[in-house]
Amino acid sequence: MQATGPDLRSLYHEADAVRRKHVGDAVYLRGVIEFSNICRKSCSYCGINRTNKAVQRYRMKPEEIVLQCEKALEQGCTTVVLQSGEDLWFDCDRMCRIIRDIKSKYPLAITLSIGERPREELAEMRRAGADRYLLRFETSDPELFARLHPDDVLKERLACLENIRKAGFQPGSGFLIGLPWSNPEIIAHDIIFATKLRLDMIGCGPFIAHPDTPLADKPLLDDRELYFKTIAILRLLNPPAHIPATTAFDAMAPHSRDRLLTLGANVVMPNLTPMRYRKLYMLYPNKPCVDEDDSRCGECLKRRLAALNRSIGKNFGHGLSAGSALSGC
Ligand code: SAH
Repeated sequence: MQATGPDLRSLYHEADAVRRKHVGDAVYLRGVIEFSNICRKSCSYCGINRTNKAVQRYRMKPEEIVLQCEKALEQGCTTVVLQSGEDLWFDCDRMCRIIRDIKSKYPLAITLSIGERPREELAEMRRAGADRYLLRFETSDPELFARLHPDDVLKERLACLENIRKAGFQPGSGFLIGLPWSNPEIIAHDIIFATKLRLDMIGCGPFIAHPDTPLADKPLLDDRELYFKTIAILRLLNPPAHIPATTAFDAMAPHSRDRLLTLGANVVMPNLTPMRYRKLYMLYPNKPCVDEDDSRCGECLKRRLAALNRSIGKNFGHGLSAGSALSGC
């Protein structure tokens, strides 16, 4: 990954061409509702990990979550992403009721991003109607994974990802770019690892140090271009995958998401979390859009897409990769 100058320009140009050819010019809006910041895990990079006593914890009511999906439709989203810490108050039954309720009221695809769950529960949530499941492997290096996840092992996370696929979800995963103790070799390995997983969605973003975590003093990579190269290479290796321009990129440097859409990305994720909770779901600092009102996020992103001459995906934007299980909606 030593590309510079004209090499780098041609890498980005090629990634953009592959994106256009395989997934088209439309950008899918996938609205995220961060419905609980309560978490049983202590992932050392994450601002809402259970050891952080400075966080005021919240949990949205199931009816509030369902109601918030109206905002997704208002803003042109065709998918709602339900994301939370690993909060087991939202057990399988509660999650299934929420999923069924959303599906009966709104024409939306549902992505779950709620951490590791047992195989039977995954199957149950799939049967209730959830379409996709997002679980990042975070890093493919087992030692680095263990160092960052005091209460988790890579093997188990990967087994969960396999169960997600077997349950019939369109699987999404990815990794954190520039983790402490990582290096370009590990990042290259992460890229290959993600590719071998044959994912429908590959979500990666920069690691950004949160001041109230054990990794508070860890800097961004000196080579900022490496973050962008990673996404471009992922597109070249995974032509039909959905690749979001993740929000953490904008926390690293404003307008990075716009740039990502020109070098491989085809999805953006407006924040649909009700305003009063947004500031409390701080996985990392400088998260954009925490001071806007609920509806602004989508509007701002739409303006940005128009400036890039990109349309908005009108269909559900289901997985296009071979082996993906398309759902009925
Ligand atoms: N509890 C769910 C959702 C986690 S939050 C789960 O375990 O899957 C979603 C993602 O945010 C994580 O997978 C992680 O990659 C990312 N994240 C957490 N802390 C971060 C940080 N400090 N900088 C950048 N991304 C972070």
